[in-house]
Order: sequence, then structure tokens, then C-alpha cells
Amino acid sequence: MLRFLIPAALLLIAASSPEERGKAWINDVRVLAADNMAGRLTGSPGYDRAAAYVVGRFKALGLKPAGSQGFLQPVAFEQQQVLSERSEAALLNGGEAAPLIVGKDMIIGAGTAPRPAKIEAPLLFIGYGLHMPEAGHDDLAGVDLKGKIAVFTTGGPASVSAAIKSHARGERAKYLAERGALGGIEIRTPKAIEIPWARQMTIARQPGMYLADPALRQVQGEWFAATFDPTQGERLFAGSGHSFAEIAALADASKPVPGFPLGQSMRATIATKIQPLMSANIVAKLPGRDRKLAAEHVVISGHLDGLGMDPALPGDTIYNGAIDNATGVASLIDIATSYSGRYGAKRVRPKRSILFVVVTAEEKGLLGSHYFANRPTVPKASIVADINYDMPYALWPLTSMLALGEGESTLGADARAVAASMGLAMAVDPLPDRNTFIRSDQYSFIRQGIPSLFPKFGLAPGSPDLETDRRWRAERYHGPGDDIDQPIRVEDSIRFDDYVSALALRVANAPARPAWLPDSFFRRFATSP
Ligand SMILES: [Zn+2]
Repeated sequence: MLRFLIPAALLLIAASSPEERGKAWINDVRVLAADNMAGRLTGSPGYDRAAAYVVGRFKALGLKPAGSQGFLQPVAFEQQQVLSERSEAALLNGGEAAPLIVGKDMIIGAGTAPRPAKIEAPLLFIGYGLHMPEAGHDDLAGVDLKGKIAVFTTGGPASVSAAIKSHARGERAKYLAERGALGGIEIRTPKAIEIPWARQMTIARQPGMYLADPALRQVQGEWFAATFDPTQGERLFAGSGHSFAEIAALADASKPVPGFPLGQSMRATIATKIQPLMSANIVAKLPGRDRKLAAEHVVISGHLDGLGMDPALPGDTIYNGAIDNATGVASLIDIATSYSGRYGAKRVRPKRSILFVVVTAEEKGLLGSHYFANRPTVPKASIVADINYDMPYALWPLTSMLALGEGESTLGADARAVAASMGLAMAVDPLPDRNTFIRSDQYSFIRQGIPSLFPKFGLAPGSPDLETDRRWRAERYHGPGDDIDQPIRVEDSIRFDDYVSALALRVANAPARPAWLPDSFFRRFATSP
């Protein structure tokens, strides 16, 4: 009965409590991950419905439109589907042709650039395929790649930092194409597999995408890209004088891996379907209050797109993308809410402006963020930092923060200071070879010279949550099981948002803009203003 006596003003303040924010947050996750959003595939009506919902939420919170068409920044893509059942491939060894089942023995990727209709070329193994001369390692040095298909494995030498290896992996297709290669085939060591091959085969039925503007593509012409079933790895190495088992053992131990001709060629006929499509980024602005600094922007980003649907799946056919990344987009809305002064909370007006950038086509290779970072709707030099949300991972208690990129820029000191003020420990990346720092949208900003951070729920070494993480990736990640029906931790997510909102404010209010540390590898992308 007592609650009827609480005055209205107190109710308003109570409504800004973490519980109320938590309710709004999980409701946003539920809406964005609902079956009627159909997995939010880039270019689909489901994506557009989700985008309209996010725009509505930003508008209601009083944010200003900062896209090229209101809150939207439309982006033109080409969608490419590899029709595996109508494609053929074979390994050619002397006069012998050993057929490969496309989509099963070898998955032909659909991103990066248009596939050639036909290809026949010698196979050349190039170890890890990493071009890192500045780190004293170059798998491409002295190798004649012209007219060849490069074959490479996962991992990299232990002596080189994870950040440099990650970058070299991200740029691999570009380096190979520049040296005249016609394509690349990746063969992951059994130990490096996150998603089982059977599920990768299913995911490969999805169309791929690249930007319609060739100037923004990594490879300008046609490009052959494939991954090879690791359980059939010996077929690639037969007759080379080496075995895949030997190579995999070296790679799993992060030891040097040799390069050598594989002594056979690959021939493939590839059927594709290509169509143009449009999908939009969303850009919303909280204007800054400082007369000078308001012209600068701190970006908080997160991708809205998901993997769509696959009608051929048994049972559940929708990739709802709840953790990946409805949670992240809901958190951008939650941070905007906490700044907005709604529900009786104190309104926040930072010195610099804060830009909420919700991007499309992350799952297609960071394409929406790549477009925004190259063609931003505010002057590029005015973007001082990016803090990115991509499945922060609300599946265990938040006891520590993992801030990927912490060691690269002055944002690391900010990340540590805010963590200390909230009683959170800083976590060390438990799986540096997972390349997480270049696997989401912050990387598009990094490549434009913008200091960035990618915060995640930390994982303590030896913690049982490592097993939760491993099982989630094997069973639900990029599968229909990543839906709302999971033990998503709401309170911890709100605390995580409090961390990011405090971090963004600290950066937005600091006298100086963030800078790369002098010894950071990623500093190379920064052009002096
Ligand atoms: Zn994601």
C-alpha cells in the first residue's frame, strides 16, 4: 500500500533508475531481435524496420539528425550470391582432376569484390600470408604471386604483437592482389576453428556484399576467395612434400610456417547472382555546449545489421542477432537516454558533440562503417574518437572491463581511469589471436587515423566464463540460437553502459583530443591535421 503514497516527482526520479533503464534496454533488445525483424539483413525490409525503430527512439530522446538524409546515410552496395550447386571446382595434379564439392569441400566466399566466372591457377602455400615487414616478418617477401592462388593458414608468429598480426590479416587480400595474385584460400587449423564447419557451410549460403563504389573496395578487380574444409586439408598438400598436419602443428604452436608451391592447380567455374541494393547507416547527434569544441565529435558506434534468415535451416530459420548486436544498439539508445535528461535525470551537455553512429553491413565485412569513416556526414578531421559496441557480451557478471585497443592510444588511460572510478578491474585479452580489435567497426575508424576503443565484458584467466564463451560461440554465435531466449544480464549491461557513457563524456570534455601513443602500430593511419 505504501507505494501509493510516493509523490509523483519521486516516481519520475525512480524512473531513471538502473531498473527502469534496464527494462527499456531489454525491451529494445526484444524489439530489435524479434522474429518480425527477420534477422535485420543488410538491404532487407527487416533491416529497414529496425532502422525506423532506432530513428524513432533517437528522435524521442531529442537527438538531432546528422545523416545525409535526416538521420539516415544511405549506402549503395552490390550483393553477390555464390550459387554453390551450380559451381564446380577441382584440384589438378599432373593430368589428374580431383573434383571438389563447392559449398562442402571448399566454401567460395561472396564478399570483397566480384568473383571471376572461371579461374585456373597454380596453388602456392604462403604460410600465414602475413605481410608485416615492420615487425620483421613477411610471408610475401620474394614470393612470385603473379597469376597464382595463394593458400594460407591461421595464426601468426608468437614474436609479433596481436595488433600487427590482426592488421596484416585484415589487409591480406589487398596485399595479395597488389602482387598479382588472383585469389586466396584460407585453411584454418582444427584448433583455430570457432564455428564448426557444418555451420560455416550453412552460413555460406548467405549472399555477400561489397560497396558499389570500387574506389572503396580492398580489391578493385575480380577476386577469388575461399575457405577449405580443414578435415580435408591433406588433399591440398598432397604431393608438396609437406603435410597439413605438420603445418597445423607449427601454426598452432605460433612457430614459423614455411611457404612452398603445392604442386597442383585449382580450376573453378563459379556461378553468381549479383544485384544492387541500398541500406542506410543512422547518424544522430547530441550537440556539444563548448563554443569551439562543439564542432568536434566523439563517436559511439554499433552495427544494426544481422545475418537475416535461411529458409533451408531445419526448425528456427531466423538469425535474430540478439547478443550480436541488438544488445549493442539498445545500449547506444540507453546511453542517449542517460544523457537526455528524460525521466527526471540530470541532462548532460558535453563540451564536444557526441555522435551516435548505427551502421549497416558489419556482417558483410565492416562495410557500413567503412563507408561512414571514408565519407562521414561531419568533417572527418572533427571525429576525435570512436568507442564501438559489438556484442559487449552480457552473458556473465561484469567484474572487469576488456578495452581492446587500450595499449594503442591515450584512450587507454581514460579507459583505466573510468574503470578505477567504478571499481572495475581491467582485463587482459584472453584470446589475442581471435583478432577482435580488427573484427568490428572500430577498425574502419582506426584506418582513418581515429583513435578507437572496443570495450567488452572482461574474462578472468581460468574463469568458468571462458567455457560459457566457448560454448556460446560454438552453439549460438551467428546461429538462430542467438535470440532473446538466453540468460542476458540486464543489470550488468546497464553498468557497462554507465562505463561507456562516463568514458565518452570524459573524452568529450577533455581539453585535448585523444592521440595515438608514439609506439602504436595504428598511428600510421593518422595524418597530421
Ligand atoms: Zn557483431
